[in-house]
Amino acid sequence: MSTFRALRIDKADTGQTISAVDFDEAELMDGDVVVRVSHSTVNYKDGLAVTGKSPVVRRFPMIPGIDFAGRVIASTSDEFAEGDQVVLNGWGVGETHLGGYAEVARVKSDWLVPLPANMTSAEAMAIGTAGYTAMLCLMALERHGVTPARGPVLVTGASGGVGSVAVALLGGLGYEVVASTGRPEEADYLRGLGASSIIPREELAAPGKPLQKERFAGVIDSVGSVPLANALAQTMSGGAVAACGLAAGMDLPTSVAPFILRGVSLLGVNSVTVPKPIRIEAWSRLARDLDREKLSAMTETVGFDDIIPTAKAILEGKIRGRVVVEI
Ligand code: NDP
Repeated sequence: MSTFRALRIDKADTGQTISAVDFDEAELMDGDVVVRVSHSTVNYKDGLAVTGKSPVVRRFPMIPGIDFAGRVIASTSDEFAEGDQVVLNGWGVGETHLGGYAEVARVKSDWLVPLPANMTSAEAMAIGTAGYTAMLCLMALERHGVTPARGPVLVTGASGGVGSVAVALLGGLGYEVVASTGRPEEADYLRGLGASSIIPREELAAPGKPLQKERFAGVIDSVGSVPLANALAQTMSGGAVAACGLAAGMDLPTSVAPFILRGVSLLGVNSVTVPKPIRIEAWSRLARDLDREKLSAMTETVGFDDIIPTAKAILEGKIRGRVVVEI
């Protein structure tokens, strides 16, 4: 039986250990499609899984990596044939099912989407779960009726993965984008992606009044906690906030005031279990609406051996934009 290179997390008495191993193909989990993975990425959740900082991994041993792109090398599914280019994100891959930091993955065909036409595997992973989630947030705001004519849209955690893609998408679609960042040195980077103005993270960091000056028609928030509470308090009447992340914390110290006095909507976004038709729509919108030059400007490419240091760096808020891993 053949082996392939993989990162493997094992459970130890003192926590978890992680190491590069030759993984036995016989140990792969059930699935009807086998993929030769060419690219993966490092998302915030990968940072949590690889470092063990949060209990993201719920099966041991685990190959982390919550998303990947590659080529089908074996399939018993009617949907995919050998040679097809595919993308996978979510469905517990890298958490409960062996994931993308490996040369080979065996998964369920239901979880795969075809690589959009005119998109490379490297570009798909430059987008990755973070960029795909930014698109889900945008689609949630659009479904709520947010348009560029309604007013500015705030993006929190703007220099991060979700934030950078959100800024580029919104800017490209003609929105006035207000980017909130804790990294003032990234102002030019954010303007280059499409931000109209930059506000310091501190402006949203301290607990504020339940209702504040109405500033934003919509918000894409990847940080949660007090900044999300302030964003809700600054959303215009009838506006909406798409919330997907917790980089600042899991709590939400808010009141009902924005909801009952301004009709503000809080739209939750969970990228993991989105039904396939919406997944395909999100990926095709990304293929259409995300400027590839901006995608390339926000992306750094690293090798397999760089996954662990990159995972640590993302939790420290030191990664700008997106990181692609060449497997
Ligand atoms: P990144 O680390 O790339 O981005 C997070 C950004 O948040 C940082 O770059 C930083 O931006 C900002 N930030 C970090 N710490 C703080 C803090 N203490 N207070 C305020 N802002 C902070 O991560 P991702 O973009 O990959 O993910 C962002 C979040 O979205 C994570 O919580 C992740 O788990 C979540 N997520 C959720 C998904 C879902 O399905 N719901 C899917 C994908 C991601 P800056 O320096 O510009 O301030």
